[in-house]
Amino acid sequence: MKIVTVVGARPQFIKAAVVSRAMAARSECEEIIVHTGQHFDENMSDVFFEEMAIPKPHYNLNINGLGHGAMTGQMLEGIEKVLLKEQPDWVLVYGDTNSTLAGALAAKKLHIKLAHVEAGLRSFNMDMPEEINRILTDRISDILFCPTDQAVENLNREGYGNIACKIVKCGDVMQDAALFYAAKSRMPEAVVADHFILCTLHRAENTDDTTRLKNIIEALEVLSQKCQVVFPLHPRTRAKLEKMNYDFEHSAILFINPVGYLEMVALLKKCVLVMTDSGGLQKEAYFFRKYCVTMRDETEWVELVEKGYNSLVGSDQKKIVAEAERLLAKGALQVSEALYGSGDAGTFIVNQLLSFEA
Ligand code: UDP
Repeated sequence: MKIVTVVGARPQFIKAAVVSRAMAARSECEEIIVHTGQHFDENMSDVFFEEMAIPKPHYNLNINGLGHGAMTGQMLEGIEKVLLKEQPDWVLVYGDTNSTLAGALAAKKLHIKLAHVEAGLRSFNMDMPEEINRILTDRISDILFCPTDQAVENLNREGYGNIACKIVKCGDVMQDAALFYAAKSRMPEAVVADHFILCTLHRAENTDDTTRLKNIIEALEVLSQKCQVVFPLHPRTRAKLEKMNYDFEHSAILFINPVGYLEMVALLKKCVLVMTDSGGLQKEAYFFRKYCVTMRDETEWVELVEKGYNSLVGSDQKKIVAEAERLLAKGALQVSEALYGSGDAGTFIVNQLLSFEA
């Protein structure tokens, strides 16, 4: 069975590697990896692939730095050429990026079976490009791999029971990744503190809105008086703060450069609280048993909020500080359930592809 995997961003490589490892264990599987180039990232050098044990892409389309239309269009064209040449049985796409949507469209128009990993997630915010990408990709997928019960429920509510497709709950591939990389993690040199809050912020809804960004940063400054805040700073967020003339030199926050995933895992293991607007980090906080304060107005990972592990605070300065202090006082997160599976999502996905009957 030949599978073309389409990936375009660093997190997608980490997710796809989980399934690649499971495929490598099955001699029936041949995987061809296409990198669209969507996220050009200097951390994605040869070292990234080697130390993360991630297979290198067979094709690199090198499409980046364009608007949504041009980017998605060029990817569609590029991926279609690869599919015509490779003639795979399956195309496998991950998550909610433009690469996901382009891979899905290219496959489906050529009548190649399509599998979507991380299907069924919804923020219910149609202003987010990610929401549009995931809804459209789900709709044309032959098999939808849902990470959670909530994701399955979302699809059922949207009438997927009447659509010719297979919906399966498989757990979350990031749970597999967290377990795999935990043993390989290493602390970034810039962080020596033993007791710190880990913070990331990169979503356009926060960085492109000066009032929101200012509120969040001021809340982090207040918290920094009580507990060190370690903040791997996304280039987009750095650029916006520089534009606001933010005084980095006199800030109490410890800003560090964006870190590799192995370093991120070490930070997650050691921190006392996670504060973020990232989707991935909210789950990773749970994987490493940390409470999380989410600086967004909605989340795809509602089960964490329902359980009280994650607190949605938007950008209200007082609320951010109050919730962080409340959760800090609670200490380590105690959990008994495995909300995202037990780390075998990769194997499950490969078994499903091999046994799929249309
Ligand atoms: N991540 C990382 N280094 C960083 C920031 C994020 O390794 O400096 C990881 C993070 O742990 C997560 C993934 O990248 O697994 C995606 O995070 P990001 O915040 O970029 O995106 P989102 O989850 O919101 O799509």
